[in-house]
Parts: sequence; structure tokens; C-alpha cells
Amino acid sequence: MPSTPRTATATRTRPREAPRPDRVWCPCRLQSVEGGGVSLIFEDGERWSCSEKELQELDPVQDGQLDGVEDICTLSIVTEAALLYSVRARYFRQEIYTRVARILISVNPFRALPIYSARHLTDFQKAKDSMELSPHIFGTGHDALRGLAENGKDQAIVISGESGAGKTESAKFLLSYVAECVKGHDGQDGLQGLEGRVLQTNPILESFGNAMTTRNANSSRFGKWLDLRFSEALHMRGGQITSYLLEVTRVCGQSEGERGFHIFFQLLQARRSLPSLGLQEPSHYRYLKNSTLEAPGIDDAEDFAKLRQALQQLGFSEEEQMQAFQILAGILNLGNCDFYNQEEEDAELGLDGESFVAEAARKLKLCEAKLRSGLLRRTVVTGRDEIETFLRLDQARAARDGLARMLYGRLFDWLIRRMNATLAMSNGGHRSGDGGATNAVHSSERLLGILDISGFESFATNSLEQLLINLSNEQLQLQFNEAVFKSEIEDCLKEGVDLGEAILYEDNSDVVALLDGKGGVLDMLDEELTMPKATDSTFANKVLKGHGATSRLIAPKFQGSASFGIQHYAATVTYSCEGFLEKNADRLPLDQVADFLQSSELPLLQELGRGLETQATNAADASPKRPVLRSSARRSATYRFRSSLRELMTKIFASETHYVRCIKPNAANRPEEFTSVMVHEQLRYSGVLEAVRIRKQGFSCRMPFQDFLLRYRCLSLLVPGSLGQGATVEMLLHWAAKQLQLPGEPQFGKTKVFLRDTTHLALEAHRKAAV
Ligand code: ADP
Ligand code: MG
Repeated sequence: MPSTPRTATATRTRPREAPRPDRVWCPCRLQSVEGGGVSLIFEDGERWSCSEKELQELDPVQDGQLDGVEDICTLSIVTEAALLYSVRARYFRQEIYTRVARILISVNPFRALPIYSARHLTDFQKAKDSMELSPHIFGTGHDALRGLAENGKDQAIVISGESGAGKTESAKFLLSYVAECVKGHDGQDGLQGLEGRVLQTNPILESFGNAMTTRNANSSRFGKWLDLRFSEALHMRGGQITSYLLEVTRVCGQSEGERGFHIFFQLLQARRSLPSLGLQEPSHYRYLKNSTLEAPGIDDAEDFAKLRQALQQLGFSEEEQMQAFQILAGILNLGNCDFYNQEEEDAELGLDGESFVAEAARKLKLCEAKLRSGLLRRTVVTGRDEIETFLRLDQARAARDGLARMLYGRLFDWLIRRMNATLAMSNGGHRSGDGGATNAVHSSERLLGILDISGFESFATNSLEQLLINLSNEQLQLQFNEAVFKSEIEDCLKEGVDLGEAILYEDNSDVVALLDGKGGVLDMLDEELTMPKATDSTFANKVLKGHGATSRLIAPKFQGSASFGIQHYAATVTYSCEGFLEKNADRLPLDQVADFLQSSELPLLQELGRGLETQATNAADASPKRPVLRSSARRSATYRFRSSLRELMTKIFASETHYVRCIKPNAANRPEEFTSVMVHEQLRYSGVLEAVRIRKQGFSCRMPFQDFLLRYRCLSLLVPGSLGQGATVEMLLHWAAKQLQLPGEPQFGKTKVFLRDTTHLALEAHRKAAV
């Protein structure tokens, strides 16, 4: 029975009885302990009793845990509760950043904080080591730049978190920090310089790639990797953007409380100043009819002005801009072309439909008759004959929406290609054409990449999109494991250092193999494309039959429901396979669509039509038989995604990685609100807890003897010169353990000394005092 009350935290292990189901790990004080049962009192005075096992201890005296700490690794008692509580205490002091060694936790404040000013930027710029300052996103930028300069290794900053957690804002802060640190080297200042141009890609990407969702009024609907190239002297030499999984389905419709892509609303706001587009108000367009018109905190008119400026700055001519807008107007009109008839009958265009087809054709400068027949008819090849058939109502609608989505997706890709061409040139010159500039990396160049990609997703219904997003998160987790854990272990073994307690971590390579490996789920999905009678159900069955034995794959509760569950590193997700085959086939929406688009008098549309045939799998067909894929055209949607993901992972694996884990503190996007249950879950998903535990167990710092001596020689005058380096380090540490009460037991490898976190931090503190 403790005489003085200990501070502890209670879990929510018995939800029905727990006093605050909306919270997890609430700080409380112990009143009494009796036979494993405890009585406790919460901060606000409420009393409760539970079993002692349900508590985790905080140590208020030693660590100041109740105020939170800047670096979780400095805590003497590292528990989930301590981590959560620290993050929470800091959040309420508007200290949104917390460090867990090389991981930066960032909690969205949902309000503008005065911590990104020029002064803050300069503080970091001047600092030798970001550890001298409080945790901050600029610190991550600082570390990455320093890594480039000192280690000469490519750097990658991986930003993850759920929608609305602050990934894109973090990426922007990072970019502005990096741009500021390296600016002016190409002799051009401001927006004309390469750094300025890189920053100007943001308004363009956000106008076309962001939309309001129920979670985030400015939600990126695509993943992004930005690669910046530097010379050895850290002069920016070029940049390149790669996008992933743009959510094109949003073009044709949105869920309640959401909007289409911002650009449509920006254009409609500005319609009076763009009379040639002949646009009307949003309610006129079926694709936007269900959209909420106003997005909180978003000013469409202002953003459109910014977009126009950015486009101009990046060398998009007025003519090109107008053509892009015209294609968007064409897409809106296309959406209004509706058909009528009974579900199973051939689709027909009514009077209204006819007039919208005519309007869409005018906007897209396409032949009206061709567009009409493209939307209503299709040629089917049976044996040697070509038969023209009419589309049923649902097929015609699918063709129309497919065309709209395809146009939008290709427009987005074109924008990125063009921006990349401009960023490929460090001289700020304007482009000479898409293919003119090269973005090839010279051997002496170094890369700094920033990844802003959707975090792990688990909704009520999960489809192929979620599977791909979760696969990328699994891959990133695998990389994280390798970088943080596996390499630690291997290094110790190589140096002959005993790790003491075995370091165990959740290895997810089996999930990655199950999804992405040879004969895995996605391979099977591609295989189904070549099977004549394949359906979503036959696919689901094959997956379950083929991989049934693994613990990672879970059969559906109800047989025949065409679904399966995957036990991801973060949670188990059930995927409904409905639509998997169709999405993966990524059929072209109309017959001969490439030729069709190239017949437009709009040069930009012609360009969007180029290279189409080789990209997609196979032309749409109305026959019940699925044609066998030609091997040369074997490019399913998931195939393309997997190759780009593979490329990305290769780059990240080859880099020194920095991790930013963004956390959304509440579902309502409100400042000063911290839903512990939500944050707790995100901390788990992000692998931060695991990282803390393993770091604590292992030797987080390992330094070659020589580096160690250079750095810590200043601590003592006693270091003799005659011993070998290893022996000198040993002596120095032996002395420090006695004289400086250095904690922890260092281990000596063949070439390196291994220090526990606590030892390293204490050494650093003494060093700071000494120099
Ligand atoms: P994500 O990209 O993760 O979906 P965003 O970066 O778009 O999330 O952030 C969502 C919103 O949260 C932003 O529009 C902004 O209002 C707010 N926000 C995010 N990070 C910060 C920050 N560091 N300071 C102030 N507001 C922020
Ligand atoms: Mg975003």
C-alpha cells in the first residue's frame, strides 16, 4: 500500500463500466490498493475503482511527465499512457510538435500559430543541430538539408497521417523552409528562381487535385512525391513531382457534404470574367449538383487568382490556360448529357441530352456526330466480323462518366508533366516543349524527396482504392521497420554487440507479400482480366482459396459475399470486391478514343489523346465475353500503380529517411479539442509506440570510435594519445561514468561504440556545457 498517492492512468479496458468512454489513458491519482484492486481519483475529482492491471504508471517527479516532454525518448518510463499524455499536455500549450527520436509527431492545431515566422525560420537556419531547438517541422527540414550536406546521402521525408491531420500543410512548411535555406543560388530571386517555381506548383496542384470532403475542406485527393535535386554545394538544380491515385471518380459525383475539385468552383466563380467559356452557375451542372457550394475557409475567387498567377509563373501561356479551362467546361457539359429509356433498353438522347452533346462538342471542339455516336454505340468484334451495337442505358452513362474522368485525369497528368518540364531547368527559362527539358540526375547530385500520401484507411466499406492506399502504407511501414528496427539489430550483430533483451517488432513483410508479391492478391486480380468468365466473386474466391492458410487473410462471415479481410499492421480491414475487376481493367470509355480526341481542333485535347492506347488495358467492349489481354498492352490500373509504388520505395530505401507523423486531434476540426481515443489509435497506426519501445530497448546511438572522439574528447583533459581509438573511447566512457554519473552501459563493437539513448543524451548535455 503506497503511503503517498502515486499518479497513474486508467485505461478503457472495460468500456461499459469505464467512467469516460471518450477518453483513454486519463491521468488519475491512486487512493488505495487492495489485493490487486485499486481506488483512484481522476484530475477532475471523479472517483473510480478498477484492477491494478488496467493502470500504467507515470512518473511525475523524475520526468515532469505531467507537463509533457519534447522528446519522448527522454522519459524514464515510456508507456503508451506517457506518450499520449505528453502529446496531449503539449498540445494544450500549443506545442504541437513532439519528438520521438527521428520521428516528428505533429498534432493539427486547427488554427494559425505564430511559429512559422521568418524569425523561427532563421533560428533553425542558424542552428548547428535541430536538437538545440524545440521540435518543429523546420527541424525536420534542417535535418534533411544537413544530411544532404554532411552525409552526401539522398534524403527522404515521409509525411503520413489520416485525412485532415495536416500532411499537406507540413509539406508546404517544409518546402518553404528548404526553399528559403537554399534560395538565390541561381541568381534569380523571388518567384522566378527555381525555389519560387517549386513553391508555385502548390496552388496548381491544390486547385486541380484538392476538394472539400467531410474530413477536410481542403483535402488532397491524390498522393504526391516531390523530388528536389541539389548540387553538392546545395544549390537547387531541379524538381520533379510524381502523383499517385488521383480520385477521378469525384469528377462525376460526390457524397453529401462534399464538393468536386476546387477548380470547378473557382472557374464558376470567375465565369463573368471568362465569358468565352459560356459557364453558368454550379446548380446548372449535374456533376456539381450535389456539391456543397461553400467550403469553409476556402475563397474560390482568391484561389483562382493565385492559380492564374502560378500558371503564368510556371510558363503556361494564356492560350494553354484557356484551353485547359475549356476542357473543364466541356467536362461539365458532358455531365449534363443524360440518356433515357428503360434500364435494359438501348440508351437514347432526349432533346435536352442532344443539346448538351452539342454544347460539349463545341467546348471540346469535337465533331458532334462522332461524340453522339461514341456515347451511344460501340463496335464489337466477334470472330472476323465487326458489329455495331447500341449501348444500354447504364452502359451509355458509364461511357459518358468514363470519358469525363479520363479527360480530367489526363489533364491533371499533363499539368504535372508540364510543371516538371519547367522545374527540370534550373535557369528559370521557360519551356521549349514537354520533351525539351530533361530531369535526369547527375551523379554528383543529391535528392531530397518529400512524400505526402494518404495514411492508412479503414471505412465502413472499403474498395480497391483503399486496398492500394493501404498497400502503400504497408510498404512504408516495412521501410520504417527496416530503417528503424532491422538495421539496428543487424548492425549490432555485425559488430558483435549483445542486444540483451531481444528486440521484437511487428514484421509486416508477409502482408506486403500477400498483396504485392508474386501470385499475391494483386497478381490474381490481373490474372482475372485474362479469364473469360471472371467476376468479382470468382476473384474473391480465388484469393481465399489460393491464400487461405495465412493468418493475414480473413474469409468473410457470410459465404459468397465477394469480400475478404486483410490483417494490416494497423488494423484488420474488410474489402468488398465489388467493382474490383472493372476498376482494374480501366477500360477506355469510348471506341477509338485516342483517335477521337486527336481529331479535336483543341491542341490541348489532341495532346491528351496521345499515347492513350498503350496505356490502358483494352478498349471498352459491350460483349459479355472479356477479351484476353494482349500481352503488349498489359497495363492494368493496379499494375501501373504498383510499378510507380515500387519506384517510389526504391528511392526511399536508398535515402536517409525522416518521418513526420501527423495526428488529427478531433473529428470536428476544432482547435483546443483533444479526443484521446482518436489520437491513441493514430499513434498506434503510425508505429510511433513501437519505435519508442524498441529504441528504449536497443542502442539508439552508434558511433565509429573516431567520430566519438572528435565529438566528446572535449569532455575530459585526461584522454591519452597513445592508446588505440577503441581503448581511448572505452577509457573516456569509463571516466565519464564515474565522474559525470553517466547512465547506461555502453557496448563496444569492432569499430563503433554503442550507446543507449540515455547515455547519449547525457553525453550531449555535458558536451554542450563544455563547449
Ligand atoms: P491533410 O493533408 O493531412 O489531409 P491538411 O494539411 O490539408 O491535411 O490540413 C487540414 C487543415 O488543417 C488545413 O487546411 C489547415 O486549416 C489546418 N492545419 C494543418 N496543419 C496546420 C498547422 N501546422 N497550423 C495551422 N493549421 C493547420
Ligand atoms: Mg493533404
